[in-house]
Amino acid sequence: MEKISIIVSCYNEEQSLPLFYEEMEAVRKRDFDESINFEYLFVDDGSSDGTMEVIKSLSKNDDKVRYISFSRNFGKEAAMLAGLEASTGDYVTLMDADLQDPPALLKTMLTAIKEEGYDSVGTRRVTRKGEPIIRSFFARRFYKIINKISNVEMVDGARDYRLMTRQVVDAILSLKEYNRYSKGLFSFVGFKTKWLEYENVERVAGETKWSFWKLFKYALEGITAFSTMPLVISSFLGLVFCMIAFLAILFIIVKTLIFGDPTSGWPSMVCIIVLVSGIQLFTTGIIGQYLSKTYLEVKQRPIYIIREKN
Ligand code: UDP
Ligand code: MG
Repeated sequence: MEKISIIVSCYNEEQSLPLFYEEMEAVRKRDFDESINFEYLFVDDGSSDGTMEVIKSLSKNDDKVRYISFSRNFGKEAAMLAGLEASTGDYVTLMDADLQDPPALLKTMLTAIKEEGYDSVGTRRVTRKGEPIIRSFFARRFYKIINKISNVEMVDGARDYRLMTRQVVDAILSLKEYNRYSKGLFSFVGFKTKWLEYENVERVAGETKWSFWKLFKYALEGITAFSTMPLVISSFLGLVFCMIAFLAILFIIVKTLIFGDPTSGWPSMVCIIVLVSGIQLFTTGIIGQYLSKTYLEVKQRPIYIIREKN
């Protein structure tokens, strides 16, 4: 019999989890018959509220429910990885606990894989209704930039909510990197992907865990993980400035030969020094970004640590 694994990463979701479970079970009973098995995999990402108690009571009443609990908060990427590694289903889906990923789409997704020959079905929000304007603005810019400078395609508005075959999951698990940026990993592995579009849904309860600063760092993560273009820009800037300096030297030599050397030009010198050292620091910073990622990569620390599971 075939099985679908539903992976739900939860960080302080005591309010939304019961609602999620209820809705998901309702959809399962309505849309799926007995010929398909289900498995819930709740990954508790070091929650500090009653999330674990909720998960445990769900698992007591329903043996489809499995869980993994981290020793601390490792982030959503780590939670999704732990879920994928522990999943046993022929089809695997990643969902948020806040019902922003409509369970009702699952049936359509499964049909696309089974009958239309797709390997994976992703979802994409076509609106960002209910999100702060400034956040949407930067999100749009981010997708514009990263798609210009990266070889893999990042779909604007793509969610982590998707249904995949076991083959796709295994391909993703074969990517062992420490700095995981899932949107990139999914498109890196390729396969035939269908996109379902839907209008943004606001979370049922609780609050978003993503501050602007967290998202900004996540965006940098995406760029360093999937593009080396900033390094190219650094070298290019270096070259341009060498050329400017060379021309300036020629100019000064000629000028001194013709007009002598009256000591002037101190303010312009200071401007040049400040500008050039600024650019140097900027490009060193870019190199530092990549170096720090490499540093974390070579240390080979575990991406998550499990405290308990069933
Ligand atoms: N999440 C997580 N670890 C974190 C932050 C978030 O597992 O460090 C989970 C969270 O519980 C939720 C999902 O990731 O199920 C998406 O988080 P959220 O709804 O806060 O993000 P948003 O939908 O606002 O982008
Ligand atoms: Mg959410």
